[in-house]
Amino acid sequence: MPLYRDAAIVLRTHKLGEADRIVTMLTRSRGIVRAVGKGVRRTKSRFGARLEPCMVIDVQCYEGRSLDTVTQVETLAAYGEPICRDYVAWTAATAMLETAERLCEGEASQQQFVLLAGGLSSLAAGEHDPGLVLDAYLLRALSVAGWAPSFWDCARCGDPGPHTAFHLAAGGCVCPACRPPGSAKPAPETLLLLGALLEGDWERADASTAQHRREGSGLVTAFLQWHLERGLRSLRLVERS
Ligand SMILES: [Zn+2]
Repeated sequence: MPLYRDAAIVLRTHKLGEADRIVTMLTRSRGIVRAVGKGVRRTKSRFGARLEPCMVIDVQCYEGRSLDTVTQVETLAAYGEPICRDYVAWTAATAMLETAERLCEGEASQQQFVLLAGGLSSLAAGEHDPGLVLDAYLLRALSVAGWAPSFWDCARCGDPGPHTAFHLAAGGCVCPACRPPGSAKPAPETLLLLGALLEGDWERADASTAQHRREGSGLVTAFLQWHLERGLRSLRLVERS
């Protein structure tokens, strides 16, 4: 039986039979892995709480024909407990874990692993507004996936910003010459906030107001959905042919 060892973040688990769980993980070098944790739902399980969402683990598995099986787990970072204690942080973490699973399916990316671990670490430490941590993670994860939005220069022709029009399908801010009909006009402060989140300028992001955070997270969510739906549609087409 081929064994492998990898660092992983637990994304979600679901029940299998009486005492087992299927654990979905984002690994550092193998992308998304689904493995059986045998006996993890028994109170005396040797894996204990190490196979819960948000945990960063060092995991050893053996490869099975359909599913791998977890044989050893060590905790690298126990973010699950501090995140669980804060409801807002927990909902932000859940959205991050779900997005990671969808973006990383069938694709190994060490950058995505590092990004998710960093986001969970920040939520667990309570460093910033959880909504900002979530939006920063989503913007950066989309960028790593090849869908970097532009919040300054024109996304179509590269004309130096700032530009006030914003269009999802065009890739972000657009200049007056490139602006498609139906472009949105977010507040300039909102575009500055999103640019700061993408670049990791936390000083600027932390200083933003609730109104611009709200508008910004609406744009981030729309941007994410637009790309995920397109991505999933193309995946379905591939499977059908
Ligand atoms: Zn342009």
